Amino acid sequence: MPEIMIDGQALNAEKTQTVMEAARAHGITIPGFCYHPALSVAGNCRLCLVEQEGRGIDIACKMPVQEGMRILTASPAVQDARQAMLQFFTLNHPVDCGICDKSGECLLQDYHYQYNGEPSLSHDPKLQRSKFFALSSRILLDNERCVLCSRCVRFTHEISKSRALGFVQRADHALLRPADPQALEQDAYADNIIDLCPVGALLSRRFFYRARVWYLQATPSICPGCARGCHIHIWHRKPQWQLKSLDAAHQRRIERITPRLNPEINGHFICNKGRDLADIFERPRLLSARLAGAPVSHEAALAQAYDWMIKAQHRVAVVSSWASNEELQTFQDTLGGVFHTFCKADQQPAPGEVIADDWLIVADKNPNLTQAQALFGSTPPQIDPATDLLLLWGEGLKVEDCPATARVIWLNAYEDSDSAWLSRADLVIPLSLQTERAGHYTNQQGQVGAFEPCFAKPDGVLDAVDVFQHLALRKALQPSSTPIPKNQTP
Ligand code: SF4
Ligand code: SF4
Repeated sequence: MPEIMIDGQALNAEKTQTVMEAARAHGITIPGFCYHPALSVAGNCRLCLVEQEGRGIDIACKMPVQEGMRILTASPAVQDARQAMLQFFTLNHPVDCGICDKSGECLLQDYHYQYNGEPSLSHDPKLQRSKFFALSSRILLDNERCVLCSRCVRFTHEISKSRALGFVQRADHALLRPADPQALEQDAYADNIIDLCPVGALLSRRFFYRARVWYLQATPSICPGCARGCHIHIWHRKPQWQLKSLDAAHQRRIERITPRLNPEINGHFICNKGRDLADIFERPRLLSARLAGAPVSHEAALAQAYDWMIKAQHRVAVVSSWASNEELQTFQDTLGGVFHTFCKADQQPAPGEVIADDWLIVADKNPNLTQAQALFGSTPPQIDPATDLLLLWGEGLKVEDCPATARVIWLNAYEDSDSAWLSRADLVIPLSLQTERAGHYTNQQGQVGAFEPCFAKPDGVLDAVDVFQHLALRKALQPSSTPIPKNQTP
């Protein structure tokens, strides 16, 4: 394990590390556009220049560590070189930060203020290049802002393997372009290049001119799009920047989703479906309890549910694979003994969706089927014709699978779920969403991930744990007399 000195600090590096990697491992920042820990080393931006005492200046991203080497990351020679490089980077850059979606998290802004800060030395007009070039139905390209770092190109060659991007022309005329117009469209991980781009050259159409990032807060969460359970950030407006003049829905909307680093699960990346979670969480909501189709108070709904529970002889529950570990455990602790319980897959792959691949995407499109099955077994729901009360939690069960004579209590969050259940259910109890409560999911590999609330739950909805505790606390119930099918996993 070689010992090296960086800015007078002795540190132990791995033999295979570069100076850039050793510095980062010890919390020392060396700037760079083209370097990214998940990608191969390109060494083309020349911004990570450091000085090796006695050897001069070279790039840290390609400099192997050697025993006893002494590195300076901020010597006068290094600072001069970085300042000169930043003059080159801004030579033709439009510096349109005021209207750029990357503003506030752009490395060029940060490095310019940190290492240059001078106006451009050039008196020549800037070269004009294509603006808002349509790379795909999800991504726009602003060639004037591109610093030709090649992170996006390397991602499509090395990580997603679509080989969708490349450069044409040389020098001042070099342009990022699609190698094949359909390749990026079909790349299920394409949006990662938007995060990878160190400047505002790659723009998400979903996030285009939608919000300034400094008005937003990133709440740690877990993607429920499949059982991989990728770690994500959900971006939404900070409470202190609520816009009172806008529709109230704007205060509660998901502005964007980005990956949250987890080396064991998703690394730095997520799939495109994970970026589109607003399509799930912003569906029309159920906002009041309904008894025989008419709105009722929570108290009346819970009293009715309890009354049906104590009168029923054959009680069956089908629990949700979108429920958290805490909710599933509460159900088991409170009502598990009085219902004969199954779990189900709430969601199946949507038409055209990538079902599974050899990287992140898995075929189970539910975040917590693993934990639901660990608690309640993996036998698909078999609802005995003798069932006289069905407690259905979430989506995914066919209405034909429920005996016509059974009463149905439906716990659900969305108004636009299967409309057959809305008319079939005798009692509907509206529930909160993942974005309105904290909890954990257990992914297909058994790894547990935590999510936090982004928003307060709206008036009119309940947390599932409160429903179960409320029903269980009224009075001890006798176990359901529904016979257990022979192949039921205990
Ligand atoms: S578009 Fe962004 S990531 Fe791609 S080469 Fe240009 S600056 Fe780098
Ligand atoms: S791979 Fe699965 S969990 Fe990860 S972002 Fe995509 S849908 Fe979400």
